[in-house]
Amino acid sequence: MVILKTPEQMIYLRRAGEITGGALLAARDAIRPGVTTAELDRVVRAYIERHNATPSFLGYGGFPGSACISVNEQVIHGIPSPLTVLREGDLVKVDVGACYHGFHGDSARTFGVGRITPEAQRLIDVTRECFYLGAAEAKAGNRVGDIGHAVQTHAEAAGYGVVRPYVGHGVGAHLHEEPDVPNYGTPGHGCRLYAGMVIAIEPMINRGTKDVVNLQDGWTVVTADGDLSAHYEHTVAITSDGPVLLTDVGE
Ligand code: MG
Ligand code: MG
Repeated sequence: MVILKTPEQMIYLRRAGEITGGALLAARDAIRPGVTTAELDRVVRAYIERHNATPSFLGYGGFPGSACISVNEQVIHGIPSPLTVLREGDLVKVDVGACYHGFHGDSARTFGVGRITPEAQRLIDVTRECFYLGAAEAKAGNRVGDIGHAVQTHAEAAGYGVVRPYVGHGVGAHLHEEPDVPNYGTPGHGCRLYAGMVIAIEPMINRGTKDVVNLQDGWTVVTADGDLSAHYEHTVAITSDGPVLLTDVGE
């Protein structure tokens, strides 16, 4: 069931979004060659708790971290580890959720560690563009297929693969609510969008094949061909004035 949010609930969702976005930028500011993903996870947790919120991901389905941190060919759900040391040229995806007064925010970005290749930067840029093209379709009266089609068309025109098994989703009192928001689709198809819905739009774009593999740790998803992947996510409110990015606190 799709849940429309009340104005009171939107107050908490906006604050959860601000905290989520702030935590993501705190992680970004801590990224440098030599830092471990466990250290980034501590930065995220400290930021969220300092703002009177709780990390949405910590303990979710048993997940051991406050952020999902995925490096290079890892697509999503990477587990922060003191053994994972970031190196110059890596692509690191940080995915953060914060829960404030019972409501969640969810946002992810892909960052380069030091200097990265032009090919890696292009993947980051196109994935970000895919998000904004999809978000532009997050209007009352449209359907989720309009979002997915916009994302898919742009990614595939660049020669990239669109991850299929993992998708965007509704966000509210639960981190994952209906509807699913795939990064592929047909215009005019799928769940209709209404003002009051809050959804996470989150393109996961691979430089090579769209296919992914789940690692034995039970969480980490990697590209099937070992090539790079990028992720860009905001929590988006659908309003009568158009989409509002709740987790966008600036660059
Ligand atoms: Mg996320
Ligand atoms: Mg999400």
